[in-house]
Amino acid sequence: MDDSYCETTPSGAAGPEDGRKGGPPYAACVQCQEPTEYPESTKGITLCPVCEWREAERTACSG
Ligand SMILES: [Zn+2]
Repeated sequence: MDDSYCETTPSGAAGPEDGRKGGPPYAACVQCQEPTEYPESTKGITLCPVCEWREAERTACSG
C-alpha cells in the first residue's frame, strides 16, 4: 500500500512576497515637512503622526 501520501498540489500557494517598493508618494507635513501617512492626493491639511498627535493634544488641552 502507498502510505506516504504527499500533498504536492499547489493550491494558490504562497508566492514570492514582493514587499513594498517605496510606496506611493506621501504628502509632506504642513508643520515640519516630514512625510505623512497620507497620500499626496489627500486634500486639506496633512500632518505627520507626531504633529497630528500634538495637534490633538493641544486641542484637547485648550480651554
Ligand atoms: Zn509634522
